[in-house]
Amino acid sequence: MLTYPPEPFRIKVIEPIRLIPRQARERVLREAGYNIFSLKAEDIFIDLLTDSGTGAMSHDQWAALMRGDESYAGARSFHRLKEAVEDIFGFRYFVPTHQGRAAENILSAVLVKPGMYVPSNMHFDTTDANIRARGGHPTNLVIDEAFDPANPHPFKGNMDLAKLKAFIESVGPERIPFGMITVTNNAGGGQPVSMANLKAVAETYHSYGIPFFIDAARYAENCYFIKLREPGYADKSTLEIAREMFSLADGMCMSAKKDAIVNIGGLLCMNDEKLFEKVKNELILREGFPTYGGLAGRDLDAMAVGLYEGLDEAYLAYRLSQTSYLAERLNELGIPTVQPPGGHAVYVDVFGVLPHIPQSEFPGQALTVELYREGGIRGCEIGSVMFARPDPDSGQMIYPKLELVRLAIPRRTYTQSHLDYVTETLAQIKERASEIRGYRFVYAPELLRHFTARFEPL
Ligand SMILES: *Cc1c(COP(=O)(O)O)cnc(C)c1O
Repeated sequence: MLTYPPEPFRIKVIEPIRLIPRQARERVLREAGYNIFSLKAEDIFIDLLTDSGTGAMSHDQWAALMRGDESYAGARSFHRLKEAVEDIFGFRYFVPTHQGRAAENILSAVLVKPGMYVPSNMHFDTTDANIRARGGHPTNLVIDEAFDPANPHPFKGNMDLAKLKAFIESVGPERIPFGMITVTNNAGGGQPVSMANLKAVAETYHSYGIPFFIDAARYAENCYFIKLREPGYADKSTLEIAREMFSLADGMCMSAKKDAIVNIGGLLCMNDEKLFEKVKNELILREGFPTYGGLAGRDLDAMAVGLYEGLDEAYLAYRLSQTSYLAERLNELGIPTVQPPGGHAVYVDVFGVLPHIPQSEFPGQALTVELYREGGIRGCEIGSVMFARPDPDSGQMIYPKLELVRLAIPRRTYTQSHLDYVTETLAQIKERASEIRGYRFVYAPELLRHFTARFEPL
């Protein structure tokens, strides 16, 4: 039997959600062209589209908002955030940004020149796009185990060190302005990176004189995975583990919408003073003055509090058992999920639920629609709609290896009974799975088509 820690909070403010009637769900699905990105949030009962900016703030964070100092320059809010950032991350310099991608944009603008390469375990899509936007080549060098959904490797986010060395040797360190690693590896299923791997990656980059930046959106979840899974860390606090992790790096980019549990915000930190000068100039051009960086003073205060709350171990124990609880209950029903469950989401293996729908008819899309039709639940297709591409030479469609539906869990937002409801909904879908049909496009733009495409059922 699974032990599931009770939520380590009680509820003081509520946001009503409602399940609209089945007929109404059918109608809004039709009107949305069967694309769940086009649904109105008010028509959704349980929204597992993303864990980004969707968490619930604590009473301390709401109180901190009231203390927000909206001075243009040198606000008290900035200095409170600075104290937290220095205490946890330890970098010499930092600027706030409005989101993670703004930090990536600024770092790429000042360091990436056309023809350069930026290696990582796996770049998140906005990081990838920001490097490409400057003419650079983002490169993913995660271990091979990351691509096997059944492999229970405890640190599937690890960098493949042999691939990394070979890569640096082949393109030349002078064409690598900085190297990265993403903790946890969002694009690879929220899988953690071990401290041993982080140390080896830092050593490798540094032995070639390459600065090392961490994409730290889910740093606290990664630290707790290290505490649970890596020998020698069971007795260290997550704060100590975080300090050790960031002491290995020369800087970091971070979306605060994840583990800092705020609705908007980001950070860009670094040790190099000359780089900081350039970053500040770019920031002033694009985001705002260096002591607020595109945010309100109150946002900085909420982030300063959230950075610590994200590291709280009672919270993290509950947080990580939400994903493992949901995954285990689904697995008991014969619904396979990517193993082990990641920190922020459960990825349903669609081949195990709708084996009769070929990839050309978008089985992940079909399951996403059924989740909404059956239970008013919104998940996210990560499969052929998102990734299938015609081969540039033969014109033949190339389909992704995995067909997944991601159920991302917003922080401190849903309870165990909400997760039970998700499980029961999927169980009902599985029972009538053989009747479920695929979809075809009626409209699909060329780029990022999953956001705006329209479909019809076959
Ligand atoms: C969300 C995310 C980003 C981008 O952050 P935004 O705040 O959405 O701009 C970058 N990297 C990772 C790993 C993320 O999860």
